[in-house]
Amino acid sequence: MGTPAQDKPTEDETLTSYSLSPQLAKTTFKRVDRLRKALEIIESALPATEAASFEEYTKPCLDTMISTVQSVQDENDIEAILNLIPVISPQCYYGKYVTLGLVIPFANSFRVLGTLAYRPQRAHLAPFFHKLYQSASVGIIPRSIAKETYERLLPGLSTAMKIPDAEFTPEIAPGPVLAVSDYSLNVLSVLEHSLQLGLEHVSVHLIKTVLPDLTTRRYLEKHWKQILDFVKRLVAILQRERNEAATIASRTFISVTLRKIVRALTQSFPRPRNWVRKTGNCSCGPCKALNQFLADGFKEIGRFSYAERTRRHRESHLPEHRDFNVSTERLSTPYTLVIQKTHRGYEREQTEWNTHFSQIQARFNNMQTPFLKELLGEGHSFDELYNDPERVASTQTLQPVSRSAQNARVTDPGVGAKRKLGIIDLTDDLNEPAAKESRR
Ligand SMILES: [Zn+2]
Repeated sequence: MGTPAQDKPTEDETLTSYSLSPQLAKTTFKRVDRLRKALEIIESALPATEAASFEEYTKPCLDTMISTVQSVQDENDIEAILNLIPVISPQCYYGKYVTLGLVIPFANSFRVLGTLAYRPQRAHLAPFFHKLYQSASVGIIPRSIAKETYERLLPGLSTAMKIPDAEFTPEIAPGPVLAVSDYSLNVLSVLEHSLQLGLEHVSVHLIKTVLPDLTTRRYLEKHWKQILDFVKRLVAILQRERNEAATIASRTFISVTLRKIVRALTQSFPRPRNWVRKTGNCSCGPCKALNQFLADGFKEIGRFSYAERTRRHRESHLPEHRDFNVSTERLSTPYTLVIQKTHRGYEREQTEWNTHFSQIQARFNNMQTPFLKELLGEGHSFDELYNDPERVASTQTLQPVSRSAQNARVTDPGVGAKRKLGIIDLTDDLNEPAAKESRR
């Protein structure tokens, strides 16, 4: 038996009972859509005369329910909204506080567009706009609704829809064909639909705000295929739609992105190394001596006299075994393990870089169409970008010849082998023109 004060529920308890109560539980677009389906089933069973008056009652009912929805939770909510558009009233869809190009959501008057614009999430917005256009193009909703939605909502939300650099990773776009992510594709579709709806100013605004910055060099180096694919798709849209303003607005992004890819390629050219090698992870006494040798930038050959077991243990703790020449000298006991560092790792990197070079060059050449030339003007072929003196100068200042690199030149025993690979030995000249020569 408590006092009256104790009987009074706490604020927490009130909230719990509120959210557990089925009538008062938070309404979602999915719930409203389920109700819509149920009402449609009932309506279909009614005689025609009754059906009309039933609809008169149910439509405001759906509107009222929607006005209590406070947020878009997942992609199922987006599907639900698209299902609801044909049955709800325009006031419910657009909301009272919508002015041209700007949606101001108020807590007491959430409507569909207001809810979408409130705390916008890019993962929901791009699919929504894309699917909205698709629904309009197959006649499920009037084209005018799609157009008006694009016009009113997109300019204010495009910043939230911006494609982040992280969209260009193979984790997001798996499979043998390295395609761009679904999100990026959706954004490109929305751009194309804006043009198809005749909304030139919206499309220009999108181009200026949603395209990725691509400032992360890691992505440019590793994921250039997806990035180039994205550019190619953008160019294809511009070519299909032939809108001058959109084409002009895209020019800088396309030109800068192509330059960035070529720059990332030249910057990733493997630099010659001294004799410092990665150390192993065992910290026993004999391995310590091995690690000291591996970390020493001036020692090429290490000799270790130990009993067989220790010799084998040591050899097994050599990281990247294939990059060392390992032998056993049996002149006296205990025998001596001889480990010689090589430049095979560096040569492998060079071979990989050459493959990369050829692939990027081929893709660039493949992209060269009269339309792209017309769009970008002169100087955008792979060779022109690669030979661009401005770019070469800027990459040279970024990567001066290091002391360690010069050291590698003196002690490098593999110079002859590298020449055999058809690569000019860059230990003689670290700058771009030498790398370029090797491709001739
Ligand atoms: Zn050890």
